[in-house]
Amino acid sequence: MQYTEIMVRYGELSTKGKNRRNFIDRLGHNVRQSLHQFKNLEIKAQRDRMHIKLNGEDAQAVMDRLSQVFGIQNFSPSIRVERDIEAVKEMATKMVAEYYEPGMTFKINTRRSDHNYAYDTNEMNDMLGGHILETVPGIKVKMKNPDLLLRVEVRLNGIYLSFGKIDGAGGLPVGTAGKGMLMLSGGIDSPVAGYMAMKRGVEIEMVHFFSPPYTSEKALNKAKELTAKLTPYAGSIQFLEVPFTEIQETIKENVPEGYLMTIQRRFMLRLSVALAEKRNALAIFNGEALGQVASQTLESMVAINDVTTMPVLRPVLSLDKNEIIDIAKKIDTFELSIMPFEDCCTIFAPPAPKTRPKLDKARHYESRLDVEGLMERALAGVKVTRVQVNDEFLNEKKDEFAGLL
Ligand code: ATP
Ligand code: MG
Repeated sequence: MQYTEIMVRYGELSTKGKNRRNFIDRLGHNVRQSLHQFKNLEIKAQRDRMHIKLNGEDAQAVMDRLSQVFGIQNFSPSIRVERDIEAVKEMATKMVAEYYEPGMTFKINTRRSDHNYAYDTNEMNDMLGGHILETVPGIKVKMKNPDLLLRVEVRLNGIYLSFGKIDGAGGLPVGTAGKGMLMLSGGIDSPVAGYMAMKRGVEIEMVHFFSPPYTSEKALNKAKELTAKLTPYAGSIQFLEVPFTEIQETIKENVPEGYLMTIQRRFMLRLSVALAEKRNALAIFNGEALGQVASQTLESMVAINDVTTMPVLRPVLSLDKNEIIDIAKKIDTFELSIMPFEDCCTIFAPPAPKTRPKLDKARHYESRLDVEGLMERALAGVKVTRVQVNDEFLNEKKDEFAGLL
């Protein structure tokens, strides 16, 4: 079937009153970014629907991309026919016949956005339904839960026919809820946290701490590759790499083992907040889940969160590991996340971190360090990369090839 357009229905936008226009404009922008490789598309974001005219582009490829854009409830590939009732009858029958299998039932559902058209919705339903009954042997009409539901929409510039609705990603258009910084490790949880933040409309920038030479170039590239996996939801994502070696070495030398983790995390959070302020972000997101590891107890959060009043949001906080893994698989980050490149925390992790660190002790041990100087030098070394859809950072084949030389 040669579809001519994709009709897109919005998600929760309709509840947003006068912000509606902003939401629609933003969604239009996000859809354009995410479909930019399809050069012939014409995208019109109107008040109640978005219409994507295909102009010969592959409908399936466009829909695969579209299904990742937040703010879309569902969409339908449609075929445009001239406003000539005979042409509509013919196309309606052709579409039903293509999907018909013996014993199936059908229904026509007509809707008019042009109320001046020669026939009203009942007349249209009757005429098209009658024609299909005459031409497709054995087919029956059923009003409730038919097997085939053909939607017909009468518009000023033509009549549009479509079957069924395909689920969109739901959520809100990325960027309509402001910006946040996501603390992205190479693990399973933080990419999922980022996905969930974006789902509710937050634009995210990645903050990644790395510690050369203790951590490899590969670990850094893994974090970038994880970022690339999330770009289809956002268009593009800024990746900020923060050198963390000096801070980790200093902490290791000066802080008792039980508090290594807590103090490291306090620095990570401080640095993330400093970057957020500089780049106009309003909150920090991370991948902490309650009770998962030593640093993720409420006591530990108290001792770490102490360094800022900026909201620290934890989208996966109350999910079980299995539930997080299910989402990681769905968004295709899981396989990457379990690749065994050491990240900076694994290397400096004490054998037995305190699960109930005390806030006053954390403050006390930290006061031995030149916090400001350490922060300043780390911030001076930050590198920013814009990661786009389809960017690649871990090229296994290239590495294998290099190994052979
Ligand atoms: P993840 O799977 O996201 O790594 P985790 O269960 O391994 O989570 P931790 O390693 O304790 O948990 O990290 C908790 C959170 O701290 C992470 O979800 C992430 O948000 C942040 N974090 C940890 N390491 C880094 C890092 N190297 N760079 C940036 N953020 C980090
Ligand atoms: Mg981790």
